[in-house]
Amino acid sequence: MTKPEPILEAVDVKVHIPAAGGRTIRALDGVSLALHPGEIVALVGESGSGKTTMARVFSLIYKATSGEVRYQGQPLQRVSRRRERAYYNDVQLIFQDPFASLNALKKISYILGRAIRIHQVAAGARAVRATVLDLLERVHLTPAESYIDRYPTDMSGGQRQRIAIARSLSMEPRVILADEPTSMLDASIRLSVLNLLDDLRRERGIAVLYITHDIASARYLSDRINVMYGGVIVESGPTEQVVSDPRHPYTELLLSAAPDPARYKGSGRSVQLDITNANPVDNTVEHRGCRFVDRCPKAMEKCADASPELITFGDRQAACWLVGQDTLVTGRSQQPKSSQPSRGSGDPHPSKETSA
Ligand code: SF4
Repeated sequence: MTKPEPILEAVDVKVHIPAAGGRTIRALDGVSLALHPGEIVALVGESGSGKTTMARVFSLIYKATSGEVRYQGQPLQRVSRRRERAYYNDVQLIFQDPFASLNALKKISYILGRAIRIHQVAAGARAVRATVLDLLERVHLTPAESYIDRYPTDMSGGQRQRIAIARSLSMEPRVILADEPTSMLDASIRLSVLNLLDDLRRERGIAVLYITHDIASARYLSDRINVMYGGVIVESGPTEQVVSDPRHPYTELLLSAAPDPARYKGSGRSVQLDITNANPVDNTVEHRGCRFVDRCPKAMEKCADASPELITFGDRQAACWLVGQDTLVTGRSQQPKSSQPSRGSGDPHPSKETSA
């Protein structure tokens, strides 16, 4: 079956920020990723990897230094003001702290009712209340009548996040950018919020960009994973393939530090890396080598001198000089083989099922 066109896409997006001493920080450095209707795509990485910057470029809070954001195939730079306003409705950002985004002094009926009125979803007190009740039902806060007159302070963190999601749904979005939506919630209620996002994509075809530092939750929820480090995507592909057969040492590090090791079906190639050995990444334009070089136990001499490009193999990509060599598989250092695939195409592990 042919995949539908992406609803939202970043194409070679760069965000370069001037810093002290005349240096330039590469917050994003050539990031490309696509979201399709009804798809959940995870953007995984630690703090400073660039994942939140990417969400802010998508939500037009940050402007890209270069590259394009395309919505329904059209570059956003070229859409009319009217289309841009529609974009703000269609693409909703959900923040990690639901309490900060809700007015604690107002009842849920007011918070959701205000959004409904502003976006002209319904008019008149009775219709607005009926829409609020419907939104509460949609985010599984039932019976809705028992929540509509509460204040955010009367609710749990998970319930508040559901209210934040309900407010986004009042605009009938086509894309949700969920920036660490469960990171401030108790472990016991995280799953219910993740399941709600999954329901929304299944029932309404909403595309979700799920931003997280937790690769285990990304595995639970997403169809595809993009692993970010130092402002670039270092590995991407269908979730189960990436998690069960990681090709980049940083992905292995994230997996080795994941809370539930049973979720990482080690294929015998996992290397236990120390995630606490986190030297800050040198993300300046002056840095020439692989951004992960200071933390990588497999680094070679050339890793400090030149940055590897993303290699495509099947439905996956990875950026590491070792991709295509047996080194990443066995941990043994080997010379590149003459049969090694060329950079930019081909399957570096043809014996593995890597294509979709
Ligand atoms: Fe490690 Fe070198 Fe690969 Fe970077 S390119 S991840 S330093 S082996």
